[in-house]
Amino acid sequence: MNSAHTSPPGRTVRVRAPGKINVFFRAGPLRPDGYHSVASLYLAVSLYEEVSATSIPGPGQAADPGRASAGTSAAANTAGDGDVIVRLKGNALHSDGALAIPLDGRNLAVRAARLMADVSENAGPVRLDITKRVPVSGGMGGGSADAAAALLACETLWDSGLSREEVSHLAAELGADVPFGLLGGAAVGLGVGDELTPALAPSPLHWVLVQADFGLATPEVFRQLDRMRLADGVQPPAPGQVDPAVLAALRAGDAAALAGVLANDLQRAAVALAPQLADVLAAGKQHGALATLVSGSGPTIAMLAADEAAALELAGKLAAEGHNSLAVHGPVHGAKIVSDVTR
Ligand code: ATP
Repeated sequence: MNSAHTSPPGRTVRVRAPGKINVFFRAGPLRPDGYHSVASLYLAVSLYEEVSATSIPGPGQAADPGRASAGTSAAANTAGDGDVIVRLKGNALHSDGALAIPLDGRNLAVRAARLMADVSENAGPVRLDITKRVPVSGGMGGGSADAAAALLACETLWDSGLSREEVSHLAAELGADVPFGLLGGAAVGLGVGDELTPALAPSPLHWVLVQADFGLATPEVFRQLDRMRLADGVQPPAPGQVDPAVLAALRAGDAAALAGVLANDLQRAAVALAPQLADVLAAGKQHGALATLVSGSGPTIAMLAADEAAALELAGKLAAEGHNSLAVHGPVHGAKIVSDVTR
């Protein structure tokens, strides 16, 4: 980082970035780099993470973020790590009160800030205030949304002068889902999910999300799928392309048509690891969902409704049975600056 940063201490850039569901997800074979090639249709939905980046004064202004060492926590949800301090709000606690995500250099938002600092002449010490609403390890890319939001917030705070495309390249270094967190809307993702092409989806689709009170680690769900395919004697197919019927249904805003073609290869692996998800999928169907599917690697379940009223009714019925349900819509925008103020 450069010691002569131009952002006055106290300037705060606040960015909102959406969680996603995968309306269609085909997983191909394991690649030599440890990832699977995929064909995915991402849909950004109206459950948002927020990251505020605030420039802070401090003796560490000239510190090299690569040599930063972990600091001490001022409070349970605050940690300093070199030139990046993190404060956490929202749903980031396990049921026993322990933090569900790291606040140090493993936090994706911290990694994003450091990556942006590496390419920014005016970078300086920064505090990231993260408000988590997307369930942690829920299959909705919440950490990726934080990373996308932190990239955009820091790029703006430090006037880094990067193009959207350059920010997207940095995003891909952080994770397969991070470029989509920036882009938002609806998009086809090929490669490991980071080769994005926007898809036309002019009408909002209405969904109910049912959140679990546990998480599933994405790599473990992929490993489970590989084990199941091996046991079936099935060679993983090349992921190919997103089913054109999915793209046509999105273009037409036709929820009933989309219900017939939703697919997620990871669903059976997630259900094998967490069999209770089968009951949630069944409850959605029983209460009138047009279709139900595991979101990404789960355990969040996404249920498609005919319209907003149907989504609200479905969410109400599921809540009455004790499910943690929420009506959302998508597509919505990707990472977006919502305020930029200096106090
Ligand atoms: P994926 O993006 O791999 O599909 P997910 O959507 O299921 O993951 P996330 O909450 O995005 O779940 O990421 C979970 C993992 O990332 C956890 O291991 C968590 O500790 C780690 N992580 C790092 N930084 C963050 C962050 N800012 N928010 C959430 N998880 C984070």
